[in-house]
Amino acid sequence: MVLVVTEQREGVLKKAAYEALLVGFGLARQKSEQPVAAVLGSGVSGLAERVVRFGVKEVVTLDDAVLEHYTSEAYSAAVADLAIDRGFTTVLFAATALGKDLASAVAARLETRLLQDCVVVELQDGAMVARRPVFAGKAIASVRAPDTGRTVVSIRPRAFDPQTQTEKSAEIVSAELKPLELRSRVAEIVRSVSETVELTEADVVVSGGRGMKGSENFGMLEELAKAVGAAVGASRAAVDAGWRDHQDQVGQTGKVVAPTVYIACGISGAIQHLVGMINSKCIVAVNKDAEANILKVADYGIVGDVFKVVPLLTDEFRKTPRA
Ligand SMILES: Cc1cc2nc3c(=O)[nH]c(=O)nc-3n(C[C@H](O)[C@H](O)[C@H](O)COP(=O)(O)OP(=O)(O)OC[C@H]3O[C@@H](n4cnc5c(N)ncnc54)[C@H](O)[C@@H]3O)c2cc1C
Repeated sequence: MVLVVTEQREGVLKKAAYEALLVGFGLARQKSEQPVAAVLGSGVSGLAERVVRFGVKEVVTLDDAVLEHYTSEAYSAAVADLAIDRGFTTVLFAATALGKDLASAVAARLETRLLQDCVVVELQDGAMVARRPVFAGKAIASVRAPDTGRTVVSIRPRAFDPQTQTEKSAEIVSAELKPLELRSRVAEIVRSVSETVELTEADVVVSGGRGMKGSENFGMLEELAKAVGAAVGASRAAVDAGWRDHQDQVGQTGKVVAPTVYIACGISGAIQHLVGMINSKCIVAVNKDAEANILKVADYGIVGDVFKVVPLLTDEFRKTPRA
């Protein structure tokens, strides 16, 4: 039996949750089943109604004030108890920062194996076989879980086309949280001040590297981002220089993004950066060095000075109405 834990933030389902549902459907179908979805949080009944429409067999809500803010302690206890009580053999998450944290805590509680950050998951002769990028994406590991016991899996965001919504219906069942003695609680959430879209959810990402020469020049990228409705990312060199916050970093030790369009400005294309954006549908690179590695992976390469090219691009995009 397959349980898909659908991730939400402030009452909005993450795009990656739909991808996890899609994988859940694929696995369940191979067993002639339908997956069950779980929605966790406080005041999440409206969300459950939305998940129902994806054609799951059932939506289990774990709605409790204790789950208002994410803590791995409370969330992992809730999911692990649900998996044990209902006998789920596969528990799926989206491999977001939260999902990876939660998946590992759930696997530890269930004392079982964890297949993290998978790009392919299927059943072969009854056993789960997954593929996951390793060594900064230079290789893909094929891992096979035994066909007995439980398996916890997280799905790399943007590796799958999200499940399309249907008008199906399913039962919504509420599950009670068992009494918990929590050792941690969220005291305060400090939001980053950003007017742009969240990096991993954005359809377009404009990223800057060392070639931007200083934090003050990222204003130019913010303008371009505003013109195309993009989020702003950065290479590690720009982050290490203190020009951007670490949460903007794209790459091996930053975030993995796969937007429809990724615009790299003044970024050389080191492997540790590429691993974070190589699955973007269309890569545009602006670099003054025609030999830069990023131009080898770009669909559109502009050899030129970012300080000349970026304002021109911004002006052009401003003239073009967005679809
Ligand atoms: C363990 C490890 C983990 C790492 N993790 C990450 C990671 O998560 N993300 C990441 O990004 N890096 C990561 N790195 C660092 C990575 O190896 C590179 O050092 C880094 O990506 C380089 O950043 P950059 O492309 O901005 O800078 P550079 O490599 O210095 O490139 C700057 C580019 O800007 C161009 N340029 C300069 N001036 C202009 C101009 N005026 N107009 C146009 N182009 C111009 C240059 O031609 C050059 O190509 C990691 C490294 C290690 C060892």
